[in-house]
Formats: sequence, structure tokens, C-alpha cells
Amino acid sequence: MARGKKIYEGKAKILFEGPEPGTIVQYFKDDATAFNAEKKDVIDGKGVLNNRLSEYFMTGLNQIGVPTHFLKRLNMREQLVRSCEIIPLEVIVRNFAAGSFSKRMGVEEGTQLPRPIVEYSYKDDALGDPLVPEEYIAAFGWASQQDMDDVLGLALRVNDFLSGVMYGVGIKLIDFKIEIGRVYEGDFQRLVVADEISPDSCRLWDIETGQKLDKDVFRRDLGNLTDAYTEVARRLNVLPKGTGPKPTLVN
Ligand code: C5P
Repeated sequence: MARGKKIYEGKAKILFEGPEPGTIVQYFKDDATAFNAEKKDVIDGKGVLNNRLSEYFMTGLNQIGVPTHFLKRLNMREQLVRSCEIIPLEVIVRNFAAGSFSKRMGVEEGTQLPRPIVEYSYKDDALGDPLVPEEYIAAFGWASQQDMDDVLGLALRVNDFLSGVMYGVGIKLIDFKIEIGRVYEGDFQRLVVADEISPDSCRLWDIETGQKLDKDVFRRDLGNLTDAYTEVARRLNVLPKGTGPKPTLVN
């Protein structure tokens, strides 16, 4: 499919104008970054796996009535999505303590939280995506109270869906980050799950062994990231067919 002009290049993806107005082609790169891009590498095949995995999660969400920006996968590295205006927040849902939460609160990683905790970071690389209270979100007009009620509802529905899907393949969903976009339909706006859902933006631990199957493998030098993501894709049965035990991940 012919893609249009490059609109934006981020750390893990490139966005191009789509074939029709209101569409965007989202290209998944192999670049991995952590700690606000202080640690960088190119991981062969990561983009191919994340394209497939994000397709899988977003399709499932669409099917259960949680709206997302996803339209269809185009090829190994690209998917067609609806263009939307991204709310400048990282919406983080935590089921078990880990990462920055464990550090901030002094709670051991893996401790189950009394209930899912939803928190918001302001998307700004220069500031290191600081955690912000809802008071800031309202005061600076990033989103209205009605929007935030909808964001919370979406975040919790995504959490229930993803937790269940992962539980079914022996994986515990520790936490994850989503981004929410606005799409306009005539005079109305609707909020949709946007960006990507992949092991880049989730913490996934094997239920039996506690093995990490997410980007912490890269952040903490715990082994081969492609192998970890391939294991998630294999369990969910989303690897390209006919590629044998090791999929072809480079195109
Ligand atoms: O680092 P922290 O513990 O706050 O991360 C919580 C969750 O959000 C993790 O699953 C992490 O992968 C994800 N995250 C992300 N992008 C960021 C920050 C966090 O995908 N910029």
C-alpha cells in the first residue's frame, strides 16, 4: 500500500499519512530505548513482533466493544490506524508492584496491589514523563473531567481484557501503559485506545517461573528480547504461519 508523507518519527514507530483522509500508517521499528532513550539498541525482529501483538490485542478490544484506533495490519511492519489527537498522557495501570511504583513506594516487586491502580504521566521527554495528579490534567486543560471518566473506564476495561488473555496463556499482567486519542465524528468526539499494546509497554511475567517476558529484559539486561517477545507471540498463537520454530523477523 502506498504510504504518504512521514508525519512523525518516535522512538519505536514512524507515522505516515494513510491512503485516505483520517488514516495513518504506523510502521514498527526495531529500535529499543529505555530510561528516556539513555539506553538504546536495535533488536532484530522486535518491530515485526510488536506489529503482530498489537494487532492481536487491539482486534480483541475492538471485538469486545472497547474502541481502538486499529483498522488493519498491512504487512510485517505496518498497520493502518485511524488518525486521532493524542491526549498527552501515559495512562498506566498497575495490578502488581513493579518498576517506578516499587521504587517510589518502597513496595517489593511482584506484590499484589489491593486493587488496580491507575496513574497518569505527562508525555514530555524533556521532563522525563512526570507523574501528574488529575488536578494538573484539569487545570492545564489536557482533558476534561468527562474525558478522564472515560479514560478511566477504558483503562480498566483494557486491564480486564489483557489480564484475562494473558492469564489464559500462563502469563501475569503486572502493569501496562496505554495512550488515548480523540477521534472526531461530525460534531462528536470519541475516545479510543491508540498507539500500541505490546511487550514494550507491558510487564509480563510467567505465572509459574516469574520469568520476565517484556521490555525489562532489555532495560535490565536479562537476556534476549526477541526470544522473550517470541515466547509471548507463540503462546498467543500470533506468529506468522509456516515459519517453523523460529519466525522470519527481518524484512
Ligand atoms: O516504569 P514504570 O514502572 O512507571 O512503568 C509502568 C508500565 O508502563 C510498564 O509496563 C512500562 O513498560 C510502561 N511504560 C511505557 N512507556 C513509558 C513508561 C512506562 O510503556 N514511557
